[in-house]
Amino acid sequence: MKLTIITKAPELANDLADVARIFFGQLEYTVLAPDEEGQGDTDITVRMAEEPREDKTRVRVTVSGSVSGEGSRDFDTSPDALEHKRVRKRAAKLALYDVFRSVTGRQPPWGALTGIRPTRLVYQQMERGKSLEEALNWLRQDFDVTPAKVQLLREIVTVQQELPAVRPEQVELYVGIPFCVTRCTYCSFSSGEIGSGKLVVPYVDALLREISAVKQLLMNLGMSVSTVYMGGGTPTSLPAPQLKRVLEALRPLAAGKEFTVEAGRPDTIDREKLSLFLENGVTRISINPQTFHDETLERIGRRHTGQQTEEAYLLARSMGFDDINMDLIAGLPGEDEQMFRESLDHVSALRPDSVTVHSLAIKHSSTMHLYGAPLPDGAMTARMLDEANARAHQLGLRPYYMYRQKYMAGALENVAYARPGAECLYNVRMMEETGHVLALGAGGISKRVAPTGGKIVRAPNVGNIEEYIGRVDEMCGRKAQLWQSVL
Ligand code: SF4
Repeated sequence: MKLTIITKAPELANDLADVARIFFGQLEYTVLAPDEEGQGDTDITVRMAEEPREDKTRVRVTVSGSVSGEGSRDFDTSPDALEHKRVRKRAAKLALYDVFRSVTGRQPPWGALTGIRPTRLVYQQMERGKSLEEALNWLRQDFDVTPAKVQLLREIVTVQQELPAVRPEQVELYVGIPFCVTRCTYCSFSSGEIGSGKLVVPYVDALLREISAVKQLLMNLGMSVSTVYMGGGTPTSLPAPQLKRVLEALRPLAAGKEFTVEAGRPDTIDREKLSLFLENGVTRISINPQTFHDETLERIGRRHTGQQTEEAYLLARSMGFDDINMDLIAGLPGEDEQMFRESLDHVSALRPDSVTVHSLAIKHSSTMHLYGAPLPDGAMTARMLDEANARAHQLGLRPYYMYRQKYMAGALENVAYARPGAECLYNVRMMEETGHVLALGAGGISKRVAPTGGKIVRAPNVGNIEEYIGRVDEMCGRKAQLWQSVL
């Protein structure tokens, strides 16, 4: 769909386009100043203007084209520049939301919320003295969030409040392995196909340098590791001898801690690699079917079968892994509700300790976006998520973190469910941005979180694998500097 936004405030155009995406899915938008009117070929035109009214400002929105209507919202003029920016943006978004809500007659699951972490809004309200129920009511009344999503937030925040608190002298350690055996068509990560594997040894050499620098840094700072997460990419795409080098280097840091490895592709898992995990203190692995339908797996560029997922899972269980996660994706190309239900049946029979259910998102850097694949029907994807939610509860799994992404089917969400005690603390702290993170490997972003106020400073590693290998000492220096900066 093509959207034209006519406004004197181009800085709000992206936010207005996000509201349109809630209702109409993928779209391209053009921004015009009022005197440029009449240019461009468009399906919907949104005109936004602001009128001062005593101590308030009124945002007025007029929509024309395939749908039409008018809306307005007032906001209080604030002397605080940041607050002013925030309330102005919110008023503009809500004015447009009101129009689309009224002309389509549809209540989107998350109402007018476009941000990636609705839980963040709940916590912000609670920090200002509201109870959980008051914060949830505010989301329902001011943002039109549906009762089902309010309930989801209630459960997630309740579970998160039971989890061990973050300690300021501890860090979460992320180790990135940016290789995969093939590229999934929906993937938007910068990881590369492992190909001939010629970069693997130099990459692992560089990573070991970074691990050793981080050990020294933690010692100098008097800090320790709280959780370790090895992701990517697919860490298990490394040949066993290289995987062994990384795991052995991490062992002193990870001993006795929550230590997750994404063993995402079942075709990269074998007894030797699983034994290495057990020997080196890995406590949690993720084996990701995404779907149990082989024709879909082929369509999305994954070179394994549903049967291989099952075999890898049963092998891991037989070797003693007692904390296994599985990822599923709702809305994969060519899949209907029955097919998704069948994948849920497989997962239910295997009884993993946690299940993460994603809604398909088609990001600009994915192959699917390149070949113009449409997003699946939002209402169908919503029903799939509802069914996944019901199944998870039947299995005794509770939702414990969630996030949303742009370009996601039905403007829905990704939700992780876990049995009590099997919640991945690393994931919660990453999502809620509550813990310091030291991120190693190409593309890792280290973060230092201020003790109060939510300020975060970041130190990114370069994303390109060859550049990372050549500049690893500089990446180590960036981390050391991060802890010298003033928060
Ligand atoms: S396994 Fe994950 S990182 Fe690798 S290509 Fe697929 S989505 Fe991307």
